Amino acid sequence: MPEACISMNGTEPGWVFSLEMKNLEKGDQIRIETDMVHMQTFFRMTEDEDVWNRLFAVDTLNSGKRGVFIVNVKRDGRNIFRKKLDIGFSDRVFSSQELRISQSLLERRIEAVSKGGERLRMTLAKSVRSDEIYWDEPFMMPVEGRLSTPFGARRTLNGGYGYIHAGIDLANKLGTPVSAANSGQVVLSEAQSLTGNTIVIDHGLGLLTLYAHLETMSVEKGDFVERGQQIGTMGSTGFSTGSHLHFETQLMGVYIDPYILEEKSLELREYMEREE
Ligand SMILES: [Zn+2]
Repeated sequence: MPEACISMNGTEPGWVFSLEMKNLEKGDQIRIETDMVHMQTFFRMTEDEDVWNRLFAVDTLNSGKRGVFIVNVKRDGRNIFRKKLDIGFSDRVFSSQELRISQSLLERRIEAVSKGGERLRMTLAKSVRSDEIYWDEPFMMPVEGRLSTPFGARRTLNGGYGYIHAGIDLANKLGTPVSAANSGQVVLSEAQSLTGNTIVIDHGLGLLTLYAHLETMSVEKGDFVERGQQIGTMGSTGFSTGSHLHFETQLMGVYIDPYILEEKSLELREYMEREE
């Protein structure tokens, strides 16, 4: 009979947890029902493995909530297993920021957000999921700078128009070198109206990094880059009020905390390897 449990420490919003299943057979169909926000529910199993792990990234919107996670297994057309797992997510406090900007900048932002074609290209770039892991070393911060906006900050512009800050802002002088946080392949390198000159790197298995508001970009789509290789320079292009790098890390479509990724990269890699 199959077994299912939650393994890997941490159900922290902005990070990941893992579901482990045992005693599976080839051909078993696993289905997850969940009321949690932005959960990845894609499963696969290799031919001769009966233990099976899957990573789930925890969106910041799950902070402080309880979630129900029902695991179903179908074998030879029959439902043979159903288990309800109840998960509590730690109540992580994210800061709030109230930004006051000029009306023209606000209008520029709203216009930038609504540019459909660009968003589509960005969305496509962010949906890549190569089957290979391109990195072995821990992730690093791509630039030296002062943290000016933390991950997950709730932001409002001029008292309205709220959104969640999906990455971190690191501020420094215009032209400060920006490096690839780890090895991978460039999947986007072009100007966007909202994020300015933007680079997206695919690190494999749905793990991506994004670098926004760059002054210059020195890599092109398709290029392979090494950890620490310079990819551009810090700027203030797009919707930006000063020189800074907006840096995002994303796993299977969910934004994760770049600082936790930096600290726990190798632990994460161990789990990702099991999925290959
Ligand atoms: Zn930012």
